[in-house]
Amino acid sequence: MSPNLATPTLFRNGRLFDGDSFLSATDLMTDARGQVAAIGSGLEPPKGARIVDLEGRWLLPGLVDCHVHFREPGLEHKEGYAFGSSGALHGGVTTVCEIQNNPPLMSSPEAMATKLENLRGVSRVDYAPYGSLVENSLGCLAEIGEMCPAVKVFLGGSTGSGGIGSEDNMRRWFTAAAAAGLKVVAHCEDDAIMAAAAAKISGDSELNTRHDLHRTREAEVQSIKDAIRVAIEVGLALHVFHVSTHEGAELIAEAAAQGHPITCSTGTQYLLITADIAHQAKQNRFKVNPAIKYEEDRAGLGKMVMEGRLPVVGTDHAPHPLEHKDRPYKKAPSGFPSIDLLLPMIFAAADLNNSNPAPFLHAVTAGPAREFGIAGKGKLEIGADADLIIVDPDAKRVVDEADLLSRSGWSPFHGFEFRGFPQQVYLRGEQVFADGKVVGPPRGEPLFAK
Ligand SMILES: [Zn+2]
Repeated sequence: MSPNLATPTLFRNGRLFDGDSFLSATDLMTDARGQVAAIGSGLEPPKGARIVDLEGRWLLPGLVDCHVHFREPGLEHKEGYAFGSSGALHGGVTTVCEIQNNPPLMSSPEAMATKLENLRGVSRVDYAPYGSLVENSLGCLAEIGEMCPAVKVFLGGSTGSGGIGSEDNMRRWFTAAAAAGLKVVAHCEDDAIMAAAAAKISGDSELNTRHDLHRTREAEVQSIKDAIRVAIEVGLALHVFHVSTHEGAELIAEAAAQGHPITCSTGTQYLLITADIAHQAKQNRFKVNPAIKYEEDRAGLGKMVMEGRLPVVGTDHAPHPLEHKDRPYKKAPSGFPSIDLLLPMIFAAADLNNSNPAPFLHAVTAGPAREFGIAGKGKLEIGADADLIIVDPDAKRVVDEADLLSRSGWSPFHGFEFRGFPQQVYLRGEQVFADGKVVGPPRGEPLFAK
């Protein structure tokens, strides 16, 4: 797909994970189109090919992060694609599905086409932004849908975006998306339940700063129940993002088992952190919507990933300057930067569950690529884009937020010890990241452009 010719490269003597499982083959060859040309053992390099000896390190498909906010256009001072995509490479991510949650929303084909075009020469990773499912976009969903993997809706307010208002609106919007043949991706939290929860603790100065008591389990679970019911009623393909409760994810798995096109993903934070840890963190660093829940939720979600019943994980990378987070609880925005650490967080989530890394790696490679119909990504197979990560899974490091490349320059995981930081990343056969730094010009391309 790249207009430029890539240098054919033989990666040899590695341990290969193909997006679904580990292979017995040790070598992978890329071609001048920047695609995977051969997988095997003892492969011979064609004349002029570059040779990379993996020396036993792992070769993985570039990660697909299905939930990020890069805030371009509109809030480039918070991130922008130049910084966001650099952070992505630091985390091993070569494809982002990005959500515009600040104005201008992606509610017209013109807005979407302009965004896709303006990011050429800016983004260092391939990009597939979602359209916006809002009142204004109902009349042009089919055209928007030609340029995106799905359309995003907020069922309940979050940072910068209002909720859907009523169930009648949800039914009308879901019906329009189903008629346009589009998948809807949803943030599920119920505003009325959150308002009632807030009222209950408003007089208690300690409880009143607990994010998990404002944005409760019940708020997510009820919103998921309502969304499933209406999606089934109107025949909609629904994907619920960043599910934070075990119960919510089980409800969705149940609907899927009954044959409905209803799926979900969780976020790395819900696999790693619990509400108490989030509450104790300074500067509201772990304040995020939905709120981080409890150990039963963390363990339950992790088990579902291991069992293959929750095959998609995204970061919800949501950058804010630290001085904005460092305000009193109620005034601090929700969300934090995290894409810079996706691969190490995935290893940590596997380790926390005493799991082989394979199902967790699957949830950030072939899992999301399949879920969102992203051809040629998330897999090591002949003909796939040669988006690759070289990693030593045993090399540990303490996270220093000063090393991260996304714009906000801080991380709630500062000081955590993780393993498996990407050493080198390739995008369509060309090296784009090595030794903690980006390499070469931005080569990212839109994946759903007309
Ligand atoms: Zn988000």
